[in-house]
Amino acid sequence: MSDQLYNNEIAFELGSKDIDESKQGNALTLERPSNVAPNGKKFYIESYGCAMNFSDSEVVASILANSGFDSTDNHLDADLILINTCAIRDNAEQRVRMRLQNLGAVKKKKKGALIGVLGCMAERLKDQFLEQEKLVDIVVGPDAYRSLPELVFEAENNNKAVNVLLSREETYAEISPIRLNSNGISAFISIMRGCDNICSFCVVPFTRGRERSRDWRSIVQEAKDLFDRGYKEVTLLGQNVDSYRFSDDPKLVGKKLLEAKYEDHVVNFAELLEKVASISPLLRIRFSTSHPKDMTDDVLEVMAKYPNVCKHIHLPVQSGNDRILGLMDRSYTKAWYLDRIAAIHRIVPDADISTDIITGFCSETEEEHQETMELMSTVRFDLAYMYYYSERPGTPAAKRLKDDVPEDIKKRRLTEIVALFRQISLERNQENVGQVYEVLLEGISSKSDKHFFGRNSQNKGVIVPALEGMKPGDYVNVRIASCTSGTLIAEHI
Ligand code: SF4
Repeated sequence: MSDQLYNNEIAFELGSKDIDESKQGNALTLERPSNVAPNGKKFYIESYGCAMNFSDSEVVASILANSGFDSTDNHLDADLILINTCAIRDNAEQRVRMRLQNLGAVKKKKKGALIGVLGCMAERLKDQFLEQEKLVDIVVGPDAYRSLPELVFEAENNNKAVNVLLSREETYAEISPIRLNSNGISAFISIMRGCDNICSFCVVPFTRGRERSRDWRSIVQEAKDLFDRGYKEVTLLGQNVDSYRFSDDPKLVGKKLLEAKYEDHVVNFAELLEKVASISPLLRIRFSTSHPKDMTDDVLEVMAKYPNVCKHIHLPVQSGNDRILGLMDRSYTKAWYLDRIAAIHRIVPDADISTDIITGFCSETEEEHQETMELMSTVRFDLAYMYYYSERPGTPAAKRLKDDVPEDIKKRRLTEIVALFRQISLERNQENVGQVYEVLLEGISSKSDKHFFGRNSQNKGVIVPALEGMKPGDYVNVRIASCTSGTLIAEHI
């Protein structure tokens, strides 16, 4: 995860391809079953937004490969151009619209080229996308990727190609994702889809549907396969991993499933984490995203018990004021959140904590903003994704609350929160100076080819001097010699 941009423009973006027009269309040979004949067509996929979207793009690549497509890393060379979109904030959608505009040139150059939009914006806008964006031929929601080959066929025959049906079962469990832009070291594994928490500001429940957990056996198998292929780290992904619950009994759904116990053959998140951590002590396990109302001590105890379960928790707080947390429907109070933080410090004392913060939410007063600042000074987060409130159509907040905090005040409050975070992050990193950490090397540093970039168990980026024989995937023990607010600089011991 590279240094994050802490302005409101792009909050959380991984690996979004910096478009390089000069690419000569390197076809990525895909693992395709021998009984699947190539159809002579290439797809290009570009992903925006959260890690879940990137993981979905790898499922889409597998579905297309299994229907005969090859892929290319140059959109100018593609027969099918796919944009996996994000709808979490208005500017995320504006970026997609701008991108679509300059993709128009491709259609002029390459006769028959198709453009498809996937993901949350596709689900939010549905058919309107075809009306609003004439360049778009295919619209597919996050639960309908299996239908993509048929939709391509429809679009090739000038028919409308839209599938935005949400599912209560779909987890793509048996589809083995094709790792895109992978460093061959770390990979995402989605463990569940959808979200049952209806936070008032959030579009996810409307674009990704209700919660469903994937069969734990397919998750463990995917992690084993990755380890056997040389991967050293997996990140278990879910909108709210703490509500992971899988039962072999199809009758056990909803509330019954939530209340069911292990003896009822229900696997919860703590048990899943233990199963994946038991694969090998050389396989690091990360997970995201936790929810303060559901994060239990047994998850923390598994983290403390297994050295290979990384000592980092992403625990979005969103606000430090109870009235605002209530309006956000976050289902916890500041005191509850601080109790969870205390539990982390008690059970996993060496864990680092990151969070999400929304400033300028409906009717937020200056005093309530100050309470969020105070909470940041109390918890002293190691990493934070910070935004000002962007009203999303169709959300409970848009329906029942007025977006009444002026934009300039939202921006000023965000600037204050970012400045405070940077100060705390520098202090936290300075406290790491002199400490010894085990770092997993991920690749050559983008700033110097005499250094490697890696991360410690706490998910902090570490720059390590390159020594003879060192390679990505190696674990190295180093001492922190110095730091910036975003990165630790190591020396060999
Ligand atoms: S927990 Fe809340 S913020 Fe997170 S995805 Fe679910 S509804 Fe959205």
